[in-house]
Amino acid sequence: MRQKNAFIPTLRTVGEAEMVSHQLLLRGGYIRQLATGIYTYLPLAYRVLHKVENIVREEMDRIGAQQLLLPALHPAELWKETGRWTNYGPELVKLQDRHERDFVAGPTHEEVITDLLRDEMNTYKKLPMSLYQIQTKFRDERRPRSGLLRGREFIMKDAYSFHADRESLDVTYHHMYQAYMNIFTRCGLDFRAVEADAGAIGGKGTHEFMVLSDAGEDTIAMCEACDYAANIEMAEVVGSEKSTDKTPVPAMEKVATPGKRSIQDVAAYLNVPTRQLVKSLLFIADGTPVLVLVRGDHEVNDVKVKNLVDASLCELADEETIRRVTGAPSGFVGPVGLKEKVQVFVDQAVMQLNEMVVGANEADTHLKHVQVGRDFTVDQVADLRNIQPGDACPRCSATIRFKRGIEVGHVFKLGTRYSEAMKAKFLDPNGKEQPFIMGCYGIGISRTIASIVEQHNDENGIIWPVAVAPFAVHLIAVNMKNEDQARLAEGLYEKLQQAGVEVLFDDRTERAGVKFKDADLLGMPVRVTVGAKANEGTVEIKLRRTGEAKELSPEEVLKELP
Ligand code: ATP
Ligand code: MG
Ligand code: MG
Ligand code: MG
Repeated sequence: MRQKNAFIPTLRTVGEAEMVSHQLLLRGGYIRQLATGIYTYLPLAYRVLHKVENIVREEMDRIGAQQLLLPALHPAELWKETGRWTNYGPELVKLQDRHERDFVAGPTHEEVITDLLRDEMNTYKKLPMSLYQIQTKFRDERRPRSGLLRGREFIMKDAYSFHADRESLDVTYHHMYQAYMNIFTRCGLDFRAVEADAGAIGGKGTHEFMVLSDAGEDTIAMCEACDYAANIEMAEVVGSEKSTDKTPVPAMEKVATPGKRSIQDVAAYLNVPTRQLVKSLLFIADGTPVLVLVRGDHEVNDVKVKNLVDASLCELADEETIRRVTGAPSGFVGPVGLKEKVQVFVDQAVMQLNEMVVGANEADTHLKHVQVGRDFTVDQVADLRNIQPGDACPRCSATIRFKRGIEVGHVFKLGTRYSEAMKAKFLDPNGKEQPFIMGCYGIGISRTIASIVEQHNDENGIIWPVAVAPFAVHLIAVNMKNEDQARLAEGLYEKLQQAGVEVLFDDRTERAGVKFKDADLLGMPVRVTVGAKANEGTVEIKLRRTGEAKELSPEEVLKELP
């Protein structure tokens, strides 16, 4: 591409942008903001987008997932079926058509894909099935001020898998996990797969892929020695602005709830010390959501806790199912109040904390309208996690450190949460109807781009990893008015293109200083400069990352490219 005609509106300064990626993408003429959290991808960014999407596509296709494209507009009815029309919270973008019918601008697609599959996949013989799409998502985020890191309109790859049994889900989950490792590695990111502790889900049922960066909103507890890493999101979320500027919550209230169990009871049932339970289980007990904050290390009594967690994932499961899955005696299930339904708001656990009734460490007593950050300090909640910097790693007992991370991907065993609610069933080999067992797997494509910039820059601008760079080579003719230079540069431009190299050719009549500054800002991995030595048939090749430069003949350039 010739830079003379290219739409690359660079800026010398940008106003409010806080994050480095936000600043550099604006300054480099990669993006422009249309409204808060809503961005245009200019031609250079679009090329990066394309590269990242291709990497994602290749890795998804490799594990047998099939790409489709679901609608972005969803009828409200589907979201009412799962309860998320009300439960999803203020992030859900709602709109109406001319007949005043309600719609959702999709923030995620579990409802839509489950609706599709429930009509098409009536037998176990067609399972498992993995489908994915790359699409624009809408979330009315509370703090969309970090550029592409947190948009209100953003691009996501979301995949969904459907299975006849848990084992099959485990296999696909593992494949997805591996694909995600490949994707983020190929994108040149320094990242960790961490146990995502959304509170309501068991340790192994969900992982997040975290780019290590101070720009991150999440805090990760990481072991120095082994690969143990966990998101302590809850402690973060509640202490951050994420939870403060919400609609006012009434004061915390202690209420008598006869027959409901305390945390101690849950601990006693699980046969672990109260301090050693970690998970937060959300139940709908008698129609009232109950958050049971359970402390400590779930590996202490792995089987039982895991079972309980699994049970909590079966949304709308009846008491008998819960008892069967957990193996809990009815004396336990009954008093806790799992009379009709059990529901876990998996990903929304923390968001909904305000309306929760919290176990109050006393039998027959609960706390209503709890707002963490107000009623509990962040430290107290962090303490609930029972993990602090300097602690011993739960796996290998080396030291735990805290780091900031950006969540670029998330894999999740959903179980039957959506299929039960939406009556999405297939016939098993015995001719019996069973709800699909599901998994979902997301990647923030646009956030990944910003994360790459967060990790790959210096004071002069972006430094793109080769795999995602808009152009592999930035070819600069220092002085286009000099015939030797112009001729050599034009020839090289042709030659590189013929060899399949993507080249941005700075053929502008700008001053050399401006061209070099722009080249650093835009961040192509290799700069080839045609300057004063053009008449000797010599050009300079320079690596953006290291600054390493050497002179060579135009013929040698191709061989030198990384
Ligand atoms: P976060 O905790 O940052 O709000 P999330 O857990 O709500 O993210 P998921 O529902 O897990 O996000 O969505 C899958 C992926 O989509 C995330 O891992 C992230 O990479 C990306 N994503 C989510 N929200 C945004 C956003 N507002 N802007 C850009 N990317 C996003
Ligand atoms: Mg979110
Ligand atoms: Mg998250
Ligand atoms: Mg997530």
